[in-house]
Amino acid sequence: MADIEAPFRVRQEGRGRLGLLRTAHGIVETPAFLPVGTQGSVKGLLPAEVRAAGAAMLLANTYHLWLRPGAERVAELGGLHRFMAWDGPILTDSGGFQVFSLADRSRVDDDGVTFRSHLDGSLRRLDPATAVAVQEALGSDVAMVLDQCVPYPCARDEAEAAVRRTVRWAEICRGAHRRGDQLLFAIVQGGVHADLRARCTDALVALGFPGYALGSLSVGEPLAEMRRVLEATVPLLPQDRPRYLMGVGSPDYLLEAVWSGIDLFDCVLPTRVARNGTALVLPAGLVASETGAAGTDLPEGRTGRLVVRNASYAADARPVDPTCGCPCCRDFTRAYLRHLFRSGEMLGPRLLSCHNLHTLHRFVAAIRASIASGELAAFREAFWQRAEPWAPSNR
Ligand SMILES: [Zn+2]
Repeated sequence: MADIEAPFRVRQEGRGRLGLLRTAHGIVETPAFLPVGTQGSVKGLLPAEVRAAGAAMLLANTYHLWLRPGAERVAELGGLHRFMAWDGPILTDSGGFQVFSLADRSRVDDDGVTFRSHLDGSLRRLDPATAVAVQEALGSDVAMVLDQCVPYPCARDEAEAAVRRTVRWAEICRGAHRRGDQLLFAIVQGGVHADLRARCTDALVALGFPGYALGSLSVGEPLAEMRRVLEATVPLLPQDRPRYLMGVGSPDYLLEAVWSGIDLFDCVLPTRVARNGTALVLPAGLVASETGAAGTDLPEGRTGRLVVRNASYAADARPVDPTCGCPCCRDFTRAYLRHLFRSGEMLGPRLLSCHNLHTLHRFVAAIRASIASGELAAFREAFWQRAEPWAPSNR
């Protein structure tokens, strides 16, 4: 298949940047947020609903699809795009994060990871060449190298060992990678140690990849810590390649990362909290109303979320967010949402998933617009005047 030429173009650069990521399944405007389709589905939503919520690109988890139904099965059925009926760009992770976080008794050595499947206990081996082969079989547009993730906090020697393996594995992955219609991104590790991040970045940039991700952030560290790592690392990355911060999807972390020069994000947060009955609501007045209605004055204060089960919504005839034009806010009241969640009706999680994805994409679109007009600094200041931080989120 034809190679993708000039896969990334920076259109504007400063504090925050605008770019275009070209893939075999279309062009993505950056900064961009990728909803997560863990098992090849964004839970409960049709692809058309995910697209209508503003998503241009999705993330699918290699670990899950590799174990079930298997990458070869997906390939036989026409590849992941056909399998899940999403014809836009897809990014797959390497599977490493789930091996380290989900699998039983994972054991890492210098050549890969041995673990037991969380599904049936079978013994499996994930090494760099396997991670590439599985993602090539799935046929994603962007594949990730196998890296060693570390927790937060993480001792320096452990972070250093992870950097050494990550660089070695990245080189093996690059050598094994064959598909010209798939971009292979490297992943920078190094925990919160700025010098280790720099060492890892320099080694990966010397190898040369079409894009670079930062891993093991948004794993519980305070926002100031993440900001410090980004400020130390991002300037070392090539200006003409996309930069992807893995596992970030709360508005506060996302905005700070864009400010530091990040282009791509993914996170389960908007859909996971939706299934638990929590709606993301943007601070009043930050983003233009889609309905003409004035902003939400949240009873909970300025926290940016609305817990629909709260008794105070039992007779509330307003939509979740009166300024939101999503299908949930267009037709349904808070009282109805509360009723659905209390009754265990599946429509509740579906509606809030639509709302949360719509809201996060609306937020990212507003960030892009503020960069385009040179007003990102003012947007950021307005955000922090109105919003309170979300708790750190996990992927
Ligand atoms: Zn809505």
